[in-house]
Amino acid sequence: MKQIERDVVIIGAGPSGLTAAYELKKCGKSVAVLEARDRVGGRTWSEEMDGATIEIGGQWISPDQTGLYSLINELGIETFERYKEGKSLYRTAEGETIAYEGEDFPVAPGTVAEMNKLVQVMNDLAAQMNPDKPWDHPQAKELDMISFHHFLREHSTDELACDNVGLFIAGGMLTKPAHTFSALQAVLMASSAGSFDNLVDEDFILDRRIVGTMQGVSKTVAERLGDDVYLENPVLKLEWSEDGVIAHGATVSVKAKKAVIAVPPNLYSRISYVPALPRKQLVTHQHQSMGLVIKVHAVYETPFWREAGLSGTCFGPNSVVQELYDNTYTGESTGTLVGFISDVDADAMWELSEEERKSQILQGIADFLGDKALEPKVFYLSDFGAEEWTRGAYATSYDLGGLARFGSVQNDNVGPLYFSSSDLAGEGYQHVDGAVRMGRRSAARIIAQLEGSSYDESYDGVAPLDKVNA
Ligand SMILES: Cc1cc2nc3c(=O)[nH]c(=O)nc-3n(C[C@H](O)[C@H](O)[C@H](O)COP(=O)(O)OP(=O)(O)OC[C@H]3O[C@@H](n4cnc5c(N)ncnc54)[C@H](O)[C@@H]3O)c2cc1C
Repeated sequence: MKQIERDVVIIGAGPSGLTAAYELKKCGKSVAVLEARDRVGGRTWSEEMDGATIEIGGQWISPDQTGLYSLINELGIETFERYKEGKSLYRTAEGETIAYEGEDFPVAPGTVAEMNKLVQVMNDLAAQMNPDKPWDHPQAKELDMISFHHFLREHSTDELACDNVGLFIAGGMLTKPAHTFSALQAVLMASSAGSFDNLVDEDFILDRRIVGTMQGVSKTVAERLGDDVYLENPVLKLEWSEDGVIAHGATVSVKAKKAVIAVPPNLYSRISYVPALPRKQLVTHQHQSMGLVIKVHAVYETPFWREAGLSGTCFGPNSVVQELYDNTYTGESTGTLVGFISDVDADAMWELSEEERKSQILQGIADFLGDKALEPKVFYLSDFGAEEWTRGAYATSYDLGGLARFGSVQNDNVGPLYFSSSDLAGEGYQHVDGAVRMGRRSAARIIAQLEGSSYDESYDGVAPLDKVNA
């Protein structure tokens, strides 16, 4: 076992841990990053498959994500626009596929009006929330007592409107059924993206992608950290006292003044803390759990839907594949589609044989785009639920009532231990942007502690220089 000494040990080489390490190193602190996997990037991960670039994990960036934008600007990384030309498709519960343009689903005008009303209710609630402190919302307690499913139905008797609006947060974001999380958690999701309007606008929230892939951002930061990143070093034991920590990896142990625990909250209890964490953290950490979604990738010789004047964007609240997008990587002549199968539908898919699963999913895509979709040259399902060091997708959220009750504890440090994750972020919550913001904030808090200087509570993780230039 190699033993080393550093100012700060960072556990987890996802975007949050790597950003924290990078910021600390820029400020002259010595760091070591211990990562369980044999790669960096965590929930961002890409592979070449038969010549096509597949982003298995996180990939999109939206205009409000200025934390991530400021990091990629600093690293000299560029973005490209997602293909958005042409009509979108909507599949009804009765199995009819309808082409449409604009933002509104092609449903009855009364349902459109009800959807707009629900969106406005969510916009108003989100506008009253500081996403860094959702538990301080004037209606926090009552919103956290009711499931998002029932909250929507309190405001509308139009089932289809409730289903469609519910889909944006339940299947689309938290990847849990709408009856399992609270209205407060849903408002946080909206507030973290600036508004519910932003969240339901796929051209905003799924605006652009990263040249070199989203995992490439982590790889670039890791290159700058060089030998300070130790792969295949899961930390299973963390000794700590007010004076410092010892993090035990598989082949290296690090003695440090502070630690950044940059693993998803559902994995905090995978580490054995000596002594145990205080009661507040032990209890709180049990109330954040991962959603579950299957990200479906299908690559074709050409993006054939474009020839038919279609964007590749498809929605079907009652379909096997509820959302579908053109996901062709920049410069590639093949056509790539990406689809999502969320929560209980994902459970059902994993119960099937591999052959049956593939057949049902491809039929789900063909229901939108026709039989050409049945014969992809690459078919791949992202399965983060089976990854020991993630255990779900996209991210964690609180159970019903958990956010108002426990949320305010989540960002407290415990002596020298600081928690950093996209899942603890306000702005950019559950996104790479939030991971970057939290990484920068953790680094700033630790630097202030180590140097005896004050920490600016209002620091939002956006590099000050970019703010000046903005
Ligand atoms: C399928 C999918 C699609 C997504 N799509 C998008 C998107 O389009 N846009 C977007 O912005 N976000 C998206 N996300 C979310 C985004 O990827 C995450 O928010 C982001 O990666 C979180 O970063 P993080 O550093 O907080 O955590 P992670 O990325 O989870 O990194 C944590 C790291 O800690 C490591 N680790 C865990 N336990 C230990 C241990 N005990 N010891 C050492 N190391 C450990 C893990 O291996 C991992 O590398 C998506 C996520 C998934 C899964």
